[in-house]
This record gives sequence, C-alpha cells and structure tokens, in this order.
Amino acid sequence: MRIPKRFRTHCPSCKKHTEHVVERVKKGKASTLTRIERQKKRQTGIGNSGKFSKVPGGDKPTKRIWLRYRCTECNKAHQRPCFRAKKFDFAE
Ligand SMILES: [Zn+2]
Repeated sequence: MRIPKRFRTHCPSCKKHTEHVVERVKKGKASTLTRIERQKKRQTGIGNSGKFSKVPGGDKPTKRIWLRYRCTECNKAHQRPCFRAKKFDFAE
C-alpha cells in the first residue's frame, strides 16, 4: 500500500481542512520479556482462560501500520485508527 506523504485532510484542532504531513509511528523499545514470558507471568492456573496463546497458523500475513498526521498550520499531530497492510510505502 502506498499513501502520499502530504495531503489535505481535516485537522481536529484547527477544525478545518489543512495540509498534513504523515509520520510513521516508530515501534517502541522492545520489552525485555517475550510475549510468551509475559503471558506466563500473568497466568496463575492451567490454561489461558479460553484464549488462544498464539494466532493459529503462526505470524499474521499483514502488519499493523500506525501513522500520525501532523498539521502544517498548527503543528499538532493526531492519529486515526490504524489499518493493516502487507507492505507500506510513502508515495512522493
Ligand atoms: Zn491544525
């Protein structure tokens, strides 16, 4: 998926359409514990309360893309619900 790096959209702080710059939200520092270790820490009994411990079939084919939209007029950033995509790129 490709999206333009700057485009006009609604800014919630200016309450009007302004030009926005798209920023990729960087992944936070990886936790020292792995996902399974964290899960084990939480678990007290047997089983995991009816939840799957893993996605069936392993890793998901798509990844979540988190974006931040920065308004060029008020310089405030806002986020929209993220979406999932296999590949992600900025179109110039
Ligand atoms: Zn704004």
